[in-house]
Amino acid sequence: MASNVIEKIKNAGIVGAGGAGFPSHVKYNVEAEVVVVNGAECEPLIRVDQQLMIIAIDKLIRGLTIIVEETGAKEGIIAIKGKHKEAVELLQEAVADNEKLSVFILDDFYPAGDEQVTLYEATGREVPQGGLPIHVGAVVTNVETLINVAAAVDEGKPVTETYITVTGHVPHPVTVKVPVGISVREALALAGVTDAKGYGVIDGGPMMGGLVQDLDEPVKKAAKAYIVLPESHYLIRMRRKSMRAISKTTQSACIQCRYCTDLCPRYLLGHEIEPHRIMRALKYGEAAEDVLRMAFACCECGMCEQYSCPAHLMPRTVNAQVKRQLMAQGIKPLDKPDPQRVHPHRKDRRVPSSRIVRRIDLARYDVAAPLIEEEYHFDTVKIPLKQHVGAPSKPIVQVGDSVKRGDMIGEIPADALGAPVHASIDGTVTEITDSVIVIKAGGARR
Ligand code: SF4
Ligand code: SF4
Repeated sequence: MASNVIEKIKNAGIVGAGGAGFPSHVKYNVEAEVVVVNGAECEPLIRVDQQLMIIAIDKLIRGLTIIVEETGAKEGIIAIKGKHKEAVELLQEAVADNEKLSVFILDDFYPAGDEQVTLYEATGREVPQGGLPIHVGAVVTNVETLINVAAAVDEGKPVTETYITVTGHVPHPVTVKVPVGISVREALALAGVTDAKGYGVIDGGPMMGGLVQDLDEPVKKAAKAYIVLPESHYLIRMRRKSMRAISKTTQSACIQCRYCTDLCPRYLLGHEIEPHRIMRALKYGEAAEDVLRMAFACCECGMCEQYSCPAHLMPRTVNAQVKRQLMAQGIKPLDKPDPQRVHPHRKDRRVPSSRIVRRIDLARYDVAAPLIEEEYHFDTVKIPLKQHVGAPSKPIVQVGDSVKRGDMIGEIPADALGAPVHASIDGTVTEITDSVIVIKAGGARR
């Protein structure tokens, strides 16, 4: 039976706030030896966790302490890049007399925040291919998630807000806390964007994030950033390419230099993933299933297609497509029973974040996005029923119901993996669809 703490985390609808959206009550309901806080925030331009680790340091430490106790872990490690000097100093001071907690300083490379990379760097533990950190006794968790844990356990507060950075080609890059369910358009307005015509918006980091298809789509709990770039920018153009164009260029332009493989962080951790071989199989029409199945080991970090490939080919997108196709055919990942070997040159092949920023033409946007602790008010929110890994939530309100911020409005369907959703403003339920619950407040003001 789930503990009281796990029940509170579940009822608060906490999911991995780093973008993954995995339900936290499931992730934390384990026995572990170590809990690692992933404070790497390695995607360029995102400025959330590095500022939260300063302004919400007490809640972060409290959330970590709760999860260390809950999992029975012997230690909790906060992994943070050394370049965030103020946060590092405050954290080191905060854990100085704590026997269980410590701070680990990460080098500034990409993707230091890939959870398997963070774990290896901070503890030397190697997650087996196809496995999870818990298979080597570890829980790796996000900063904002732990802050939400402290609020849920100590104050009974559900997740109704999320911190996001709005940056790129915007008048005032900013980091703000917004109610879940406002539109992306409203989020952009907080950075001074009044008209996004001629621009593309990336949801998340520039290496891994996808394009926002509709600016009226709602901001979800796990949102981390919106990056506005001109349509002519390399990162937007490549995201607009069709799969047909990607396949054609793969066939015509891959020179088999294998840079994509040699710099692949999962390959360097010893996993059986060699993107150049997947590209070759597609280039020559080889239906080599064992090669294609390597795609399952791809974490889609984007290193190969946005940094490594000299021909601007897109192995990450190809891998994602191959994975979808294999899964549709019922084909599963490769079993990898043998112990993997970390590549002897792994450390030398880690790519500094500053080099990534230059390579993907973001240097001019690599600026501060100060966190403004202001309460914003919005007229309408659309609360998505699916903001997490698992089944969509089941509405438990009706059109016409009055709701208060924090009320549960959608519950986890019976026996399903999922997370409940909550009203993020006071108001009235005006519409319920298959995908959202719409709540209207009295009127927009700020
Ligand atoms: S880096 Fe590009 S050109 Fe080189 S093998 Fe990989 S996909 Fe082909
Ligand atoms: S996206 Fe590319 S570099 Fe990253 S894990 Fe996948 S194959 Fe490797």
